[in-house]
Amino acid sequence: MDSPALLDVQHIRRAFPRPGGAELLVLDDVQLTLREGEIVGLLGRSGSGKSTLLRIISGLSAPTAGSVTYLGNAVNGPAQGIAMVFQSFALFPWLTVLENVQLGLEALGLPPEEIRKRALAAIDLIGLDGYESAYPRELSGGMRQRVGFARALVVHPNILLMDEPFSALDVLTAENLRTDFLELWQEGHLPIKGVILVTHNIEEAVLMCDRVLLFSTNPGRVVTEIRIDLRHPRDRQDPAFVALVDRIYTEMTAKRAEQLARRERIPGSGLGTILPPVSTSSMAGLIEALAASAYEGKADLPELAADLQLEVDELFPVAETLQMLKLAEVEGGDIRLTHMGKRFAEEETNVRKEIFSRALMSYVPLAAHIRRVLDERASHTAPWSRFEDELEDYMTQEAAEGSLDAVIGWGRFAELFAYDDESAMFSLENPQ
Ligand code: ADP
Ligand code: MG
Repeated sequence: MDSPALLDVQHIRRAFPRPGGAELLVLDDVQLTLREGEIVGLLGRSGSGKSTLLRIISGLSAPTAGSVTYLGNAVNGPAQGIAMVFQSFALFPWLTVLENVQLGLEALGLPPEEIRKRALAAIDLIGLDGYESAYPRELSGGMRQRVGFARALVVHPNILLMDEPFSALDVLTAENLRTDFLELWQEGHLPIKGVILVTHNIEEAVLMCDRVLLFSTNPGRVVTEIRIDLRHPRDRQDPAFVALVDRIYTEMTAKRAEQLARRERIPGSGLGTILPPVSTSSMAGLIEALAASAYEGKADLPELAADLQLEVDELFPVAETLQMLKLAEVEGGDIRLTHMGKRFAEEETNVRKEIFSRALMSYVPLAAHIRRVLDERASHTAPWSRFEDELEDYMTQEAAEGSLDAVIGWGRFAELFAYDDESAMFSLENPQ
């Protein structure tokens, strides 16, 4: 039976104004319910609006439309009873661990003795016993993150919002903190009733969550909900665990492929495609890995990620860039080299450059546009700012800069055009 809702998020929309007057739609019609006893995961790539959603839920920022209801009351400002854990915490270097944790309680106006008692209990709970009088500089990254958890838990929140809390830690430290957290949660030692965990790590989501909501990008939307009914403690080697990870990979790649296909069909949207920061050497590396005999040009994305020791956020952009350039196809959790991709793998550098150059001219409108402008101008040069201004009609300044950086790297490899960083000028490599 369903337990009562702690939190109810309805039709959340969030748009940010852009310099040109148009707006950037970051969240569109997001719905989410958190019930007592649940850990709900929000899984999506970076830029899909996850942090924005958490800020709205905690009352730190207002939605453009929609509502957040916490225990039956509308959230219209910083909500008591909802605490946040971030990727990394700003701990005050001149305060001890105990003092840093006590800070979390100051706003509550409790008597000093009570503040001290609760802070010591939170420190104890999260495994920092003995470190009360240490200063942040004396702590490892994992211990500092534990201080962050203690600072959030010390207020005895009903809901804990966690924004990629393990992603700044090394692999072993992250696993250690996840396991400790889950154990405390399972045994009912944590003073919280529900958790929302934002992550881009599929295995982490399957390890920790009762339900996972998959987020799309541009705009962020909940596209699928996946229930994780495995018993705790969960085993990453368990076939049911592996099958869930696989299924989520497949769903995420399928959704992305659909999205990419849809974007290509929108007329005039060519220049508006945000280009990912993927280097030509990582593209060549992935093509070579795929062409290697073990894969024979085709691989299962989760397996490939594990073999290459990559995370979703690292593998997807490379796979998608190859897909955009039609050097590979991504479908149903698999990636497969196209005929052109296979040729690229077989050839030496000069032919590779030609293949890549043709792919850029055909499938990356920004690259073709820059080349056309340079060809047409008598000077065969053009400033960075010209293209940045154009791109900003379609995207934020940040995205425009990122897209230009990406296309410069690709254009250089393909010898389509050159770019001089000092003068911020594009030019033709060999003007005719
Ligand atoms: P995630 O946490 O999923 O990586 P974010 O919520 O941080 O995503 O950001 C989603 C998008 O919203 C990004 O494109 C980001 O640039 C944009 N964004 C976030 N905050 C602001 C803001 N205050 N003003 C303008 N754009 C913003
Ligand atoms: Mg974020």
